[in-house]
Amino acid sequence: MYTPPNGFFHGGLDADPELAQAVRGEWARQRDGVELIASENLVSRLVLEAQGSVLTNKTVEGPAFGRYYGGAEFADRIEALAIERARRLFGCRFANVQAHSGSNANAGVFFGLLGLGDVILAMDTASGGHISHGHPATLTGRDYRIVRYGVSPETERIDLDEVRALALAHRPKMIVAGGSAYPRAIDFAAFRAIADEVGAFLMVDMAHVAGLVATGLYPDPLPHAHVVTTTTYKSLRGARGGLVLWNDESLSTRIEAGIFPGVQGSVTLHAVAGKAACFGEALEPEFAVYNEAVVANAGTLAETLAGQGLRLVAGGTDCGLTLVDLTGVTTGDVAAKALERAGIAVNKNLIPFDPLPPEAPSGLRLSSNAGTARGFGAEEFRAIGLAVAAVVRAPQDEPTIERVRAEVRDLCARFPIYPEP
Ligand SMILES: *Cc1c(COP(=O)(O)O)cnc(C)c1O
Repeated sequence: MYTPPNGFFHGGLDADPELAQAVRGEWARQRDGVELIASENLVSRLVLEAQGSVLTNKTVEGPAFGRYYGGAEFADRIEALAIERARRLFGCRFANVQAHSGSNANAGVFFGLLGLGDVILAMDTASGGHISHGHPATLTGRDYRIVRYGVSPETERIDLDEVRALALAHRPKMIVAGGSAYPRAIDFAAFRAIADEVGAFLMVDMAHVAGLVATGLYPDPLPHAHVVTTTTYKSLRGARGGLVLWNDESLSTRIEAGIFPGVQGSVTLHAVAGKAACFGEALEPEFAVYNEAVVANAGTLAETLAGQGLRLVAGGTDCGLTLVDLTGVTTGDVAAKALERAGIAVNKNLIPFDPLPPEAPSGLRLSSNAGTARGFGAEEFRAIGLAVAAVVRAPQDEPTIERVRAEVRDLCARFPIYPEP
């Protein structure tokens, strides 16, 4: 006979002090630090609870209302809710909410729509493309033939003539637009015209701008792309995971099968519930106000950095994301480490035509997503911009780092986040 130990169903984190200490350490790090990493955000308590709920116990496979396992009544309801909200949020006909991550969403779409060895035309990583778009170190880079477009050396913006010339020369089956470190607006209609000219699918990966797209603050890819993918935890301010959207019913079977069973098994139902929660929040007027602030704050941050003599890639930003070129100042890895010690989290990043390697690149990528979520406004982002500039110009200077660390603590104390877990 087995009896569950005391506290198995009612205890919490305290049942594992070693783990609890690390989780609380992370909570305190988020509470006391300025988060500028573009792939992050602060979710609501609602999303947090949905993801930490009993749904983690339920295994389902296949589409809602067509599951392989029983007991799926509530699982079906939750997934249907997430799908219906995603469709409403982006004004499209179909949504798949099962992708465990952004990379899986992309891999599933490729697997569903392409054959082994087909050509994909996608942006190179130094120009801002994501590794899941065919980087040689990934499955996508092994299974497909990847052709790269970049940005213009003068404007550091996508050169559509180059994209078209490469498409005509290589006849891709898939063209990918969108990336991880491209700060400017993208002309999705022009991409679609090129795709149509060569008979390719157009996939747009809007991971870093999905929240802005949902609120009309960034060009909408859905009228143009055959399929749109995104993560749900960056600008959407929600659950960890991926999302696939499309309008053409004739692609549905292949896209759905590309995700399951193509690249995944069962559903992470707790994450799907988190997605339903965040899509629900994103449908409220509050989310538009949040995104307007994300864009305004990114502008303030960019202006402040430029005012301190730092060069911004592509001259600035059309979204929440800014790429700073540190050439002649320091390198991205040194800057990121110094900023971390000062309580500001950023990531080092390649810049277009970067002469330096990815481990010690020339750039830093900054975003206003998470800071805006806790309520930072123009005044705070101006202060953050000044602090970033001071630290990257003196990454070895202890007094500067200590001064900024103290400022960051004060700032964060005025904008509290969750209670202690
Ligand atoms: C973050 C990101 C992804 C990958 O998301 P994961 O959830 O880390 O797999 C894919 N595409 C783009 C453009 C991204 O920025």
